[in-house]
Amino acid sequence: MVTECKQSVKCDILIIGAGPAGLWAAKTAAGYNLDVVILEEHPCAGFTKHCSGWLLGCEFTYRFFNELKQILPHQKVSRFIIRDPVSGAVKEDIEDTGWGGYLVRRELFDRELARLAILAGAKLFLNAKATSLIREDNHVVGVRTSSARIPEVRARAIISADGMKSATATGFAKREIAIAYEAEIYPGVQMELVNVRDVVPGIIEIYESTDTFLAGRSLWPHGNGITLSSFSSIEAYSQIKLRQDNALSYKIALSSPIYMSSFLNRRNMGLYYQRLTKDGLIFVGEACGCSGIIHGMISGYYAALAVKDEILNGNKTIKADEQYENMMRNSDIYKNPFCYRNIRNYYGLYKNWLERSKEIRASVP
Ligand SMILES: Cc1cc2nc3c(=O)[nH]c(=O)nc-3n(C[C@H](O)[C@H](O)[C@H](O)COP(=O)(O)OP(=O)(O)OC[C@H]3O[C@@H](n4cnc5c(N)ncnc54)[C@H](O)[C@@H]3O)c2cc1C
Repeated sequence: MVTECKQSVKCDILIIGAGPAGLWAAKTAAGYNLDVVILEEHPCAGFTKHCSGWLLGCEFTYRFFNELKQILPHQKVSRFIIRDPVSGAVKEDIEDTGWGGYLVRRELFDRELARLAILAGAKLFLNAKATSLIREDNHVVGVRTSSARIPEVRARAIISADGMKSATATGFAKREIAIAYEAEIYPGVQMELVNVRDVVPGIIEIYESTDTFLAGRSLWPHGNGITLSSFSSIEAYSQIKLRQDNALSYKIALSSPIYMSSFLNRRNMGLYYQRLTKDGLIFVGEACGCSGIIHGMISGYYAALAVKDEILNGNKTIKADEQYENMMRNSDIYKNPFCYRNIRNYYGLYKNWLERSKEIRASVP
């Protein structure tokens, strides 16, 4: 039987969720000697395995990844090809002009970020799920958790980095905090396929079609004949595989999945919540509608800077949550959101989005 510890832990910054957004916020804040606690509900960082692992190429990515690429397996992304799967016609063939970035394994990448955050001094608690908020005067001052080791944490600032769940009723904060935007969520399954025809590492293919089975399918090759790809269901994968009327089916006709992970995703990717903060709570990454690994990390970086300013510099004129909102709304990532599925609606051509994305340059401490 586990004996419950009733003691409340106190820290400068509490971060909920050890994904890229939360971990980068933690690393940044700990780098300023702030006392940082991260809660992660799963038994490890890097539990999120449904992701294709594309790190968008931009100044931010190239600067922090330079060091990581010495130790982390990765592929350089060199081309994006947009195809009509039925005719096989190439709609856009875009060569890397600096936007390409890298493909990584998400589980390994997140663990590396966790290592960096811990090295910087952050404390990571695994198997510790934030379950409810603690409030004083309508302000969030802490959370209760599922863990007997750390049942309650109070902090001077709280960052919610709990990912897609915040967009749904299951999000721990969402249950208690109404944020003025409900995401339209759809489920799917991400697969690692082997024996795929004509896929080369670093060349990404996206299929645009009016056929709902084929529309939006994409191939993210991590090796020769090996690719990550997502489908609406296992059944949908099997059906596409059996069809003989399009280029995508031809590619995956002989493939087999060696790994699968289910996910939730947003239809309205590229749309931030109207509120990025609420009652003092700061939302970063997917939890504030900021999709994408790099975008999420940058939002975590801004959150940490805003909190650092309030705590260390005693910034009394502007509170951390307000400063974070300002930083975000004026940022490259807010003006150029991660939304590769909705590109045509926002940017006309993929090329326009990719070219603008490479200009993202939040500085790296
Ligand atoms: C199929 C698919 C493919 C994708 N491919 C790409 C891609 O190639 N490139 C890209 O940039 N983006 C991609 N994305 C988007 C990307 O995965 C997300 O934007 C990114 O993971 C968001 O990071 P995050 O840190 O905000 O949240 P997450 O990575 O979701 O991390 C949130 C963390 O919080 C933890 N958590 C949740 N609730 C609690 C709680 N109550 N208490 C404690 N811990 C909690 C979770 O366990 C998790 O570890 C993809 C998404 C999908 C669905």
